[in-house]
Amino acid sequence: MEINLQRLIERLEAVGGLGRSDRPERGIDRMAFSEDYYRAISLFGRLLKAEGLSPTQDRVGNLIARRPGLENDLPAIGLGSHMDTVTDGGLYDGALGCLVALECMAVLRERGITTRHPIEVIAFNAEEGGPMGGTFGSRAMMGKENALDQNARQNMPAFGITPEDVLSVRRDPAGFHSFLELHIEQGSVLEREGLDMGIVTGIVGITRCQIVLEGASNHAGTTPMGYRRDALVAAARLICQMQELATRYPEPFVFTIGNLEVFPGMATVIPGRVNLQLEMRDLVPEHIEDFISRTAEAAAALPGIKAEIKRQISKPPAVMDERMIALLEEVGTRAGVSLRRMASGAGHDAQVLAGSGVPTGMIFLPSKDGISHNPAEFTHPDFIKKGAQVMLEALLRLDAMDLR
Ligand SMILES: [Zn+2]
Repeated sequence: MEINLQRLIERLEAVGGLGRSDRPERGIDRMAFSEDYYRAISLFGRLLKAEGLSPTQDRVGNLIARRPGLENDLPAIGLGSHMDTVTDGGLYDGALGCLVALECMAVLRERGITTRHPIEVIAFNAEEGGPMGGTFGSRAMMGKENALDQNARQNMPAFGITPEDVLSVRRDPAGFHSFLELHIEQGSVLEREGLDMGIVTGIVGITRCQIVLEGASNHAGTTPMGYRRDALVAAARLICQMQELATRYPEPFVFTIGNLEVFPGMATVIPGRVNLQLEMRDLVPEHIEDFISRTAEAAAALPGIKAEIKRQISKPPAVMDERMIALLEEVGTRAGVSLRRMASGAGHDAQVLAGSGVPTGMIFLPSKDGISHNPAEFTHPDFIKKGAQVMLEALLRLDAMDLR
């Protein structure tokens, strides 16, 4: 059973190309809640209807199309991605995952296959970080409290939606047997390694802290080197030690000191205080905690320096279901696809479903030169063909699995 690549690409151009600017240097503008966004999901809905699904649009602009199964009391297998783009975005980010889901439905119809579970193809709205915050459509559907936080409430009127609308789209996560998303990598790991596909193990959590190092400001000319308590020299030492510490943790652990504020910041004064902006990302929260406590120990041992670590934000990681990872890996390997497991450094709708207890799997396809959120975004049709084929086969295999 093979997917039809030509049909998939034609439909991707037709739906995913909506919002394309006339000027060649500009990309596709299909921002959440925009006219072009609604045009795209309405065309997408018509195509799904032609494949035998029943599309409905919920009150925050998500499109949901249901395909009945043999046992309609069973939870649904969800399949899809988001349909909104950033400003001057590309053809593939989000739209590709939606159109691959449509292609899978087209093949099932051609073959006259009815699955045991009902299937729901979903195009989420507002995944890109706009005024409502990223993954708004999926957070609203999964009933996440933060879809109704102060920021969301403030920005709702501009998009013509109300808190009641947000409440109305809530779904019980238990209504989903599983969820599958195909997305472009938006990075260059797969391309560099010459691979066809990435199987996402999870979406990394993010923790940010501010480290404050206090030394003593003094005259840069009259204070001999031996008598200084230079906070910037201490910061430099600490960063080098952190670089060493970071090697203790396996991939995808990363840390970054993205900014230094040096006080008073003058050529004639020894820096008395430095604020360091620290960010850590990993799938394992314990690694991040361990790194923070070891960094605190190293900072406390800096001679003549008082150190403090202040926590700012902490977003938990979302781990994909091991059964889904193994399934995608097996289906891909059997199909002769070269692949690797990898974590995602960017947020996705799949993260929201995984975080709501839905067994979730996600695959990444290579992005040319690692470029995305840009008109030059490109994923080669060979990869798209392999990706869509793996999605179709994984969908059929999932239908025979009882995950709940
Ligand atoms: Zn995306």
